[in-house]
Amino acid sequence: MVKTLRKSKHILNSFLINCPVCGEKNFSVEQVLDEIPYFGEVLETFAHCKSCGYKAHDILPLGENKNPKKQEIEVSKDNLGLRVVKSKYCSIEIPEIGLKITPGPESESYISNVEGVLDRVIDSLKRISKIKHDKEKELKKQIEKLNSAKEGKVKLTIIFNDSTGQSAVIRKVK
Ligand SMILES: [Zn+2]
Repeated sequence: MVKTLRKSKHILNSFLINCPVCGEKNFSVEQVLDEIPYFGEVLETFAHCKSCGYKAHDILPLGENKNPKKQEIEVSKDNLGLRVVKSKYCSIEIPEIGLKITPGPESESYISNVEGVLDRVIDSLKRISKIKHDKEKELKKQIEKLNSAKEGKVKLTIIFNDSTGQSAVIRKVK
């Protein structure tokens, strides 16, 4: 059954399966076909367990085979809102603060914007600083710079490097 949410977004499928975490047959999976302007079609999977609250999300860009892609974006107030599709194979590098996040097994796919990417980077640095106390000072400095960049006070570059070419910073074509 195809239900139309809005013109470009279709729920293809929704079903209940056993939850991979708690085992209850209360894990609701929804597959949505979405069209992202200037990028193309993506298949998004949203899943959550109504028993234990476990959530999962994945994005699969459809369309032709993509080549490895590297995109650079300068963080400024004007482009905080640019849409970003980040696959789980994409690394994020911010050379000015010596930061490189390479995709690991827990790497996530998501659709967000430049500001959202910075927020996620800040969150993961905060998590790391709670575990690695010897790096606390260095991480705090990086977090401060990221926050300043969001306010337009510091110039930073984000480099997205995706060996599968499934990630993109979408610049609107005017
Ligand atoms: Zn569960």
